[in-house]
Amino acid sequence: MYALCDVNSMYASCEKVFDPSIRNKPVIVLTNNDGCICAACGIAKRMGIGKKFVPYFQVKDELAAAGAIIRSSNYELYADLSQRMMDTCARFAPHFHIYSIDECFLYYGANYVPPEGWNAHAALIRRTVWKEVRLPIGVGVGSTPTLAKAANHASKRIDGYRGVAVIDNEQIRQHILKHMDVTDVWGIGRRLGKRLNDVGINTAWQLSKAKPGFIRKEFSILVENTVHELNGIPKLNWDEVRSPKQQIFSTRSFGQRVTDKTELRHALISHVTIAASKLRRQNSLLKTLQVFACSSPHDNDSYYRQSILHTFPAPTSDTSIIAHAVSTLVDSVYRKGVKFYKCGVGLIELVDAAHYQQDLFNVLHDKTDLMHCIDRINSRYGRNTVHVAAQGTIQSTTQSTTQGATQKFAMRREFLSPQYTTRLADIPKIFCD
Ligand SMILES: [Mg+2]
Repeated sequence: MYALCDVNSMYASCEKVFDPSIRNKPVIVLTNNDGCICAACGIAKRMGIGKKFVPYFQVKDELAAAGAIIRSSNYELYADLSQRMMDTCARFAPHFHIYSIDECFLYYGANYVPPEGWNAHAALIRRTVWKEVRLPIGVGVGSTPTLAKAANHASKRIDGYRGVAVIDNEQIRQHILKHMDVTDVWGIGRRLGKRLNDVGINTAWQLSKAKPGFIRKEFSILVENTVHELNGIPKLNWDEVRSPKQQIFSTRSFGQRVTDKTELRHALISHVTIAASKLRRQNSLLKTLQVFACSSPHDNDSYYRQSILHTFPAPTSDTSIIAHAVSTLVDSVYRKGVKFYKCGVGLIELVDAAHYQQDLFNVLHDKTDLMHCIDRINSRYGRNTVHVAAQGTIQSTTQSTTQGATQKFAMRREFLSPQYTTRLADIPKIFCD
């Protein structure tokens, strides 16, 4: 069985973790430079405000009238809370796979049933993540990754499921698939959904009843695999499944524990190669990169994990540029003596290459060697040892940040919440009378 854990409205929920005063308010998160809306919490969605990708200036007054709390993207906070949520989830199953910044799969083996039963087990994961990280998640359980995804969808969107849904019998499978639009099925995008509608397939249930041969002929082997998966026949390898477009993750556990820095670097750079080719394929450019490595929570040694963010001065999709960044970051992730079990990269902030407006002062690619040289010196000798004077005045230019660094972004982040977990000066303060 597979379980999929997925945070509800990740970015907006992260903003609420260390600021309980806004937990019951509509929270809206903006993209870089406070340009567009990129996330809205459930309360905001229910109020009908905070539609994704709408320019902020267009709805500024409307949001203010609704009493919405506005926040700039705080990727340092989101990446760190993501790691904490992943750590908590990973403890529950022998196999674990990070799918995106707020989603992970757990795999328990084909016929495993937890002693307390699946519903109680899934509810326990959900409760534990809330208790330890204060992030609300939905947990979906199914016999294939696609059914776990469908159950997760049900846990949040279908009446009667409160954050937990388990597809472990035929009746529930039918009930959930009948209540799902075909475009809510994993891997079925809007365009594919339209074509499926044209042949009379409107719900997930109808797709599951379609003849696999017909689907392969009219669509593709990928959609045929989805049909099998909806019927409980595993076809997808979670390492190969398509990631959501907004982020690309490449991560894998090592065959044997790795203790050598060079080996770790090689592994990370191979993840870059995979992720960068996906990036180019979907015509995106990378702005913020996450690099992480950890030991196994199931090993006897004390658990170690490290994650670091890197923001590129100019968005890039060049493998050599990203790989170069990883080479400089590996020193911060590696620790001598740790038996690394898993590592990976996350391309967590992307921009569309087709619509990316080039910066007059920051022409793509041409100054990258210089930029990396500067980053290297700074990561070794401390931030701001060397920096470009112009960076302070160009809004869209960012400097590289390392975990714990207090470097300020040059870009506009007017509504930025504190970096509660990665910056010493921002640690929450509690006052007692
Ligand atoms: Mg989510």
